[in-house]
Amino acid sequence: MKIFVIPIGTVRGGVFGALKRSLAQVFSADVEMTARRPITEEAYDFQRRQYYANAILDDLDDEFIIDKKEERVLGILDADMHTDPMNFIFGLANHRTACCLVSLARLRPEFYGQKQDRELFHSRVVKEAIHELGHTFRLGHCRNRHCAMYFSDSVTDTDAKKAGFCPVCRKKFSSEQT
Ligand SMILES: [Zn+2]
Ligand SMILES: [Zn+2]
Repeated sequence: MKIFVIPIGTVRGGVFGALKRSLAQVFSADVEMTARRPITEEAYDFQRRQYYANAILDDLDDEFIIDKKEERVLGILDADMHTDPMNFIFGLANHRTACCLVSLARLRPEFYGQKQDRELFHSRVVKEAIHELGHTFRLGHCRNRHCAMYFSDSVTDTDAKKAGFCPVCRKKFSSEQT
């Protein structure tokens, strides 16, 4: 398995080292950072001051032809995004194309008026990346709140999750691989 991690626009915060280590371990994958891609400007909603996640994901879907048996694409966007009917989302995935997307904007403690905490920020990014990649392996949302596939309604949920799958999701993940 190979996971391509793609910065979309400018990505701050030095997340790529943490992502590389954790994703390699959880997915037994080779993780490769690729060149930065520009943000599709049509994806910006001036009224909401957010990006429309589906438009950015569509752009990734169009750009990459993926061998779903062997490859995954994870886009990282350092800006707030939404989808219908949600006001905001941490990430979005398309299991048909094996592409997914994570936004860093709401994973930083500073977003909530708290002090910078790089370790906490990185752990949230890793968990949400595992979650979205999990969807590309057809994993749905899990009811175990310590599982990475638990749906995060807020960062409190993200913080309660572990950076890995529960035994049930782990089993589903393994069966998707064969
Ligand atoms: Zn989800
Ligand atoms: Zn689970």
